[in-house]
Amino acid sequence: MSVLSNVIDDHQMKIIKNEFIRLEDKCYLENAGTALYPQKLLNKINDDLLKNVYMNPHSDKYTRDCIEQIRCMVLQHFNTDNSNYTVVFTSGTTQSLKLVLETFQFHNNNDDNSIGSFIYLRDNHTSVIGLRELAENKNVDVVHISHEEFLSSLKIPQPSNDLQERNKNKSNTLLVYPAQSNFNGFKYPIDCMGNIKNGCLRGYLKKQLCDVNCNWYILLDAASLTSTNKLDLSVTQPDFVCLSFYKIFGFPTGLGALLVKNNSADVLNQKKYFGGGTVDIVLSGEDYHVKRSALHERLEDGTQAFLSIIALKHCFDVISLLIPKIVNNNIMDTISYHTYYLAKDLYEQLQNLKHDNGANAAVLYMDSDFTDIKTQGGIVTFNLLRKNGSYIGYVEFQHMADLFNISIRTGCFCNSGSCQRHLIISNKEMKAMHKAGHKCGDEIDLIDGKPTGAIRVSFGYYNTYDDVDKLILMISKCFLRKQIQKPKRIMMNFNKNVTQITNGISSNEQILKSLVLKQRNFSNGNEIDYYNNDYKMTLVEINIFPIKSCGAFKIKSGWKIGTKGLEFDREWMIVRDNGICLTQKQNTLMCKIQPFIDLKNRCLTLNFDGQQPISISLDPAISSTYTETQVCQSKVCTDIIKGYDCGDEVADWISNALGISFLRLIRQSSDRLLKKKASEEQKLLSLSNQAQFLLINKATVRWLRDKITDELFSDDINSLVDRFRGNLIIDSKKELIERDWQKVIIGKHEFKVEGQCSRCQMVCIDQRTGEKTVEPLRTISQEFGGKLRFGIYLSYIGPIYKCNDRMLKTYSEVNT
Ligand SMILES: *Cc1c(COP(=O)(O)O)cnc(C)c1O
Repeated sequence: MSVLSNVIDDHQMKIIKNEFIRLEDKCYLENAGTALYPQKLLNKINDDLLKNVYMNPHSDKYTRDCIEQIRCMVLQHFNTDNSNYTVVFTSGTTQSLKLVLETFQFHNNNDDNSIGSFIYLRDNHTSVIGLRELAENKNVDVVHISHEEFLSSLKIPQPSNDLQERNKNKSNTLLVYPAQSNFNGFKYPIDCMGNIKNGCLRGYLKKQLCDVNCNWYILLDAASLTSTNKLDLSVTQPDFVCLSFYKIFGFPTGLGALLVKNNSADVLNQKKYFGGGTVDIVLSGEDYHVKRSALHERLEDGTQAFLSIIALKHCFDVISLLIPKIVNNNIMDTISYHTYYLAKDLYEQLQNLKHDNGANAAVLYMDSDFTDIKTQGGIVTFNLLRKNGSYIGYVEFQHMADLFNISIRTGCFCNSGSCQRHLIISNKEMKAMHKAGHKCGDEIDLIDGKPTGAIRVSFGYYNTYDDVDKLILMISKCFLRKQIQKPKRIMMNFNKNVTQITNGISSNEQILKSLVLKQRNFSNGNEIDYYNNDYKMTLVEINIFPIKSCGAFKIKSGWKIGTKGLEFDREWMIVRDNGICLTQKQNTLMCKIQPFIDLKNRCLTLNFDGQQPISISLDPAISSTYTETQVCQSKVCTDIIKGYDCGDEVADWISNALGISFLRLIRQSSDRLLKKKASEEQKLLSLSNQAQFLLINKATVRWLRDKITDELFSDDINSLVDRFRGNLIIDSKKELIERDWQKVIIGKHEFKVEGQCSRCQMVCIDQRTGEKTVEPLRTISQEFGGKLRFGIYLSYIGPIYKCNDRMLKTYSEVNT
């Protein structure tokens, strides 16, 4: 049972939702990537820019004044003012970080030999990790510490050195850490600045002896925290804070800030470059310039992003119009609680998510258990598991999410430190993965069954429990295939009047806890509510066999239907020197030639164990190696096919792989018509034998697997499915139903059933190894009274509705 809170009530939520009508039924769960801007915001900015003449702030006092006013608004948002902090506008968090490193003075004024260190948490965002290159350039010691080391060091109390002022005889050390992890929303302590300044981390410095008493400076990466939380700079006072505004408001992009504590500003004095607006005097013909004295004037090179800064004013206005001040009379605290409870709900549901054999369906990658909002923000990161405990790749998950119109982030989210820690990938393994071709952001989601990334859900103020439901429903439909119980959510309403602080704990939390206990007793006997999971038949796989009789190319998301069937399906064939087509019946090794089609680079790549992959162009017209030729499709040569010979190189490669001399690879050139009774309409065919598409019902395969009693037959369901070499693999609840179908509608496409597929000994070839077995042909024969039929042939009728979309998508619904 979940105990949650309805922080923003339904009425106010309706008003908020109204600002995001453009989402239609899209479920946006990627707030950590960017917040979304409300419609009102654009209207206000639009009105303002149309009404007023904003000029370059270097020439126009009015624009300049507006910008100064907005600096104050920024400081106010963080509960401070210009007597304590200075706002430096930047292009975003990344530039703010760089600016600190470039200008930071690591050595002390008197002695250039005593240089401080640059120390960072390994779980930082990539933009922070990159700073070490700048630090190394300055000959500064670079030190990195682990998540655990950091947290345990902060707990060790230090004698107070009363180091409020910088000791000019000591070196300066800079620590960078995130206020909130962008990986999983863990909130790092920010109430420990004093302890850090007093040296609780000094044990990690390389030059321990000389640095015992260095001056500690803290650069807080607040990009993730500030997007949905309050940062109160009157309570916690890091020296430098960086953030990006689009992460809070969704707009404008290209604008961020570096907040500098005024007491610490003097240490940012190593700036080399100067640009327009940042100098008091510059001589162009002599090496002489004097930088401006005000910090922000010194650091903001060039013309400020003044229209974006103007837009920022409306960001603050609109958010305070839209978000009620429910928690602590503060907008950001309200957003913080709202998103926290959504994430907590999802976290608890994922924790309890089970397959029907009792196995866990999710692994969570969290550093808190959602018992304290002080340590956790509105983000949940996880991977899904199959029934047998193996991982579901995040790319597969992403495709399904796309299909259900759910926006979600997968991968490592620019945080390889946290990714490695939670997914338990060593540096050595990371390098090996990279060597094997895996790059940040690619589609290789599993290596040897181990995940290379994860799934991240992050909530914004516009999300509701309905969004959690949509995600859980999609997971249950696609990966659990069973009904799951909707959680019983006990909703506590936040009451404005009781939000007072007692003993440092918000009394609201306390009241919530006591109410929870009461509510538990009442909750028995209520009706159980299920997610509406109606077991639709779905298309679970699309396969094509670019080279007749060779391996399958499994399509992840969708594929185009061409005039002859799926594009590039059985477009090529291998022929012997007698001009006759070679099939798996004669050479079982053919199934081990694995094709891969790269549409972007327009090539077909062939892989075979022990040989270097080889590629040929998908466009015969532009390939000079192609020559026209004629071949027979079968031994009896009833069909003469005109084709292109794909050249010597690939021919030699194939001959070598299969151990047969003088093989050639031929591509079909003209469209082949299936010979049929004259009365029937003719369909264009590729080199497939019978029909355009072969459909296999996975439920029928499961049924068949259960019938096979031969203990030597070791196929699991998927490898048994592969033996039937179907193009379209569907899954339904019932076996054998496909035998009675006349037509099939898959997604937006209609197909006619042409009949059942007759089987031969080809199904006895294990498609992974090329080995021959007796099964499954024996059982098929036994079950169907000697009729060797399995799977149905389809031909394409066309799109239902009058759409021109020829894409067939995996996980489309199947109807008859
Ligand atoms: C988003 C993010 C960054 C990078 O911000 P940019 O806007 O891309 O410069 C850095 N650190 C954290 C914690 C973030 O969440």
